[in-house]
Amino acid sequence: MTAVRRAVPVAAVLLLLAGCTSFADSVALPVAAPVTTSPPADVEEGGCPAERARPDPDRPVVSLDFRLEDDRVTVTGTETIEFTPDRRVDELVFRLVPNGPDSAPEGNRLVVDDVRGDDVADGRYEGAAAADPGGLYVVSLEGDLDAGDSTQVELDFTLTLGQGDFDRVGADDGVSWWASGAPLLAWEPGVGWAEDPFVDLGGETATSPAMDTSVSVSAPEDLTVLMTGARAEPSAVQDGRRTWTATEPVARDVGVAAGLFTTAQATTPDGVAVTVGVLPDGELTAEELAGRTTAAITDLAAHVGAFPYRTLTVALLPDYGGGIEYPSMIFEATPSRLVLVHEVAHQWFYGMVGNSQFRDPWLDEAFATWAEAVVDEQSAFGYEAALGLPGEVGGSMTDFPDDGTYFDVVYGKGGAALLAARAAAGPEAFDAAIRCYVDATAWSVATPEDVYAALADLPAALPPLIDAQALGKDDVPR
Ligand SMILES: [Zn+2]
Repeated sequence: MTAVRRAVPVAAVLLLLAGCTSFADSVALPVAAPVTTSPPADVEEGGCPAERARPDPDRPVVSLDFRLEDDRVTVTGTETIEFTPDRRVDELVFRLVPNGPDSAPEGNRLVVDDVRGDDVADGRYEGAAAADPGGLYVVSLEGDLDAGDSTQVELDFTLTLGQGDFDRVGADDGVSWWASGAPLLAWEPGVGWAEDPFVDLGGETATSPAMDTSVSVSAPEDLTVLMTGARAEPSAVQDGRRTWTATEPVARDVGVAAGLFTTAQATTPDGVAVTVGVLPDGELTAEELAGRTTAAITDLAAHVGAFPYRTLTVALLPDYGGGIEYPSMIFEATPSRLVLVHEVAHQWFYGMVGNSQFRDPWLDEAFATWAEAVVDEQSAFGYEAALGLPGEVGGSMTDFPDDGTYFDVVYGKGGAALLAARAAAGPEAFDAAIRCYVDATAWSVATPEDVYAALADLPAALPPLIDAQALGKDDVPR
């Protein structure tokens, strides 16, 4: 998910090396003993799909009705979800992201007020290492729901937006924003409920399926709403409010920003409709931001394939530093061009190619970092040294003791390992293999096995990823 991309850690690696002239005299970083492993001999043929995989026709259908109250720090809402599991379940599990230990201390809180549905028995919170009232909300069903059968559940909720820091939800002068702001269906198709614990790191731990999504936001009339999906014209003003709606057929989550935005529109040569919004005194004009966004889409698509969505919306928030990606929506809290490229890259790696952000955070963060360097070769300067950092790129979110280690290993070393793999295999062949990976895993929850499979015909690409412990022997496709 998103990932909070704080500017500091990878930038710190870059800064450290900014004055250096060669790799040899630049390594002030601890160097891990190299673990050179030959690629397994029995890697199966990866192959490349003839076309991009389509979303599961039985994917969940979710409707989110939000109301930003007049205090502009309270959001009330109702989530209606129709769920058709691909294996038998007796409950539904929702993740309450704002209650996580990295988010709740800022004043963010998500509470479920009521749950309804013909099959619903009751609902309860589970802690999952999050703050009160808990990180998971579990809806028990009256009986089992077989694979292929459907149930509909409605949840009323209240979200409180903290102030003073950049997080997935928040508020500042003239702007309120929230993403993962409603109970998030924690289903990993083919696997089951993702009940992973929260961790106190500036990264995500959620897993969610691609869902048919519609969003409605009632907001005070002076605010312009930007959000995931193709947005319609707002309603007429009634009682001092306007209602904004949008739809997106394949979103894992939803981001919304309501603010005193000046907006601009642009369209890429491939027809992606870009909408951006900047606040008064924003550090970029709306036109500048729109131009940078269309350029990032076009530059990235040349390497990783067609942009996943019909639309992309970017809200430029106050300059807290960093950015956070959501499906077809980006919260950008810096004028940095490179952070924007990183978040746009997440539209492929996280948005379309989903992953368990708890189990395999490198599948979105290392790839988004790699993509920065692919479209901006200057940004690759310094990454090579990150290959020497200790730590497993393929670790889960509980394997990193602090934000610095997490960012350095998953983003820095992970991005560097992918760059090294690309150099070893040849950039064109490697990018082609990544396009195959993207097309094969589109709209699913990918695993390291899928990366292995996509690189099966490029054995030279594997040692850098194995050495960095991005891929291990457990990831060899069976
Ligand atoms: Zn990221």
